[in-house]
Amino acid sequence: MKNNQSFPTLGVRGTSADLGTGSNLVKTTHEPTMNSRTTKRIALISVHGDPAIEIGKEEAGGQNVYVRNVGEALGQLGLQVDMFTRRVSAKQDVIVQHTPNCRTIRLEAGSLEFVPRDDLFGYLPEFVDNFLKFQQENGYSYPLVHTNYWLSSWVGMQLKKIQGSKQVHTYHSLGAVKYNTIENIPLIANTRLAVEKELLETAETVVATSPQERAHMRQLVSTKGEIEIIPCGTDIERFGCIAREAARTYLGIDKETKVVLYVGRFDHRKGIETLVRAVGESQYRNSGKLQLIIGGGSVPGQSDGIERDRIENIVKELGMNDFTTFPGRLSQEILPTYYAAADVCVVPSHYEPFGLVAIEAMASGTPVVASDVGGLQFTVVPEETGLLAPAQDVSAFSCAIDRILNNPEWRDELGKAGRKRVELKFSWVGVANQLDELYVKVLQPAPIPAKEVVLVSK
Ligand code: UDP
Repeated sequence: MKNNQSFPTLGVRGTSADLGTGSNLVKTTHEPTMNSRTTKRIALISVHGDPAIEIGKEEAGGQNVYVRNVGEALGQLGLQVDMFTRRVSAKQDVIVQHTPNCRTIRLEAGSLEFVPRDDLFGYLPEFVDNFLKFQQENGYSYPLVHTNYWLSSWVGMQLKKIQGSKQVHTYHSLGAVKYNTIENIPLIANTRLAVEKELLETAETVVATSPQERAHMRQLVSTKGEIEIIPCGTDIERFGCIAREAARTYLGIDKETKVVLYVGRFDHRKGIETLVRAVGESQYRNSGKLQLIIGGGSVPGQSDGIERDRIENIVKELGMNDFTTFPGRLSQEILPTYYAAADVCVVPSHYEPFGLVAIEAMASGTPVVASDVGGLQFTVVPEETGLLAPAQDVSAFSCAIDRILNNPEWRDELGKAGRKRVELKFSWVGVANQLDELYVKVLQPAPIPAKEVVLVSK
């Protein structure tokens, strides 16, 4: 694999191409301090995943949901949370206030247009510059930055070098895992792998959202560095707020219909083709009582639009048009109704570091059939809250879906157990509390080494 993307340099402040040590970088005048005002102010950085935009289209998915919900929940705990992202259009507001303590701040980096994440690395120095400028203009700096995805991790590493910000990081996806599951390795791959390794070895703590993700970090990224497991969460009041019957009435689906649901982005790695082919093999396919709902937005001509066209063609080829619907992007307001109406929610991803959709469905009392990969092995307990099937195995998915459709009582038991599991482990409030504890730990001054302690006898 050849890599011809070089590490970018910091425009205004950095002059050298080598950012390895950061020693040549001009430091800001606002050194982070440990006083009570600044320790309560944190920055969540999510360069390509804007927490304030519509979810479910193009590249907007789990990361956007995670950052927004973590930010808002931390805000409720009393922290001042600023979520930094890249501005992609002149029409976008620069600052979006979510709650009194939590806002999104959009910084310019490159032209004001959507840029696919694989092409964003070269714009990061400008992002860092504008972050520093923002701090300077506002008269404070962030003692702790929680970065999301490898692009933001690079930004966080520069802030660490420039002003000593402590860094907590959530990967959301690991290059080392992703590149094992795709055919066309992008040019940026080597850079990403190097950044992900440096990050794990230098950040104060990396948050793994599942034990499986932690194992991958250790096996594929580095044996060095601090890792703590704190899962993703979900809104347990929103998901689970409506009963199956009411949801079906609202959506115009009758009681007898067997409803199989997919929610997510149109991306080849989401495995929607496996789901469609599995439903095509279902014993209910000619019953006249089956409905397959494939929810998620797409933009014609963009990569998600192309994947949606491909999936629609497979549906057509298999003669499944009359019982398959594509409702498009589903808002977070309407999603609980779709989850509640379904008999089973299917998450057929080739790989999934966590998979928010699985816990949203479980919180809604709906069993999940998911690929036996990554975080899905952590969230879905086979035979208790749903079933796992080998990724891309059409027959296994078909059998698992039919087992649940065949037995409504068991479906309800699985649904109840799923709801309970989410309440116990995956609420945003619980996640925010764990993150808050982690931040406090990370911001604690390092203990003075024993030999430097001078004992004065009275
Ligand atoms: N989502 C949504 N509307 C849609 C499709 C998806 O709000 O039409 C949300 C979904 O509810 C979930 C997120 O997008 O919160 C997808 O997260 P997940 O971790 O399952 O997948 P990712 O997009 O991160 O790969």
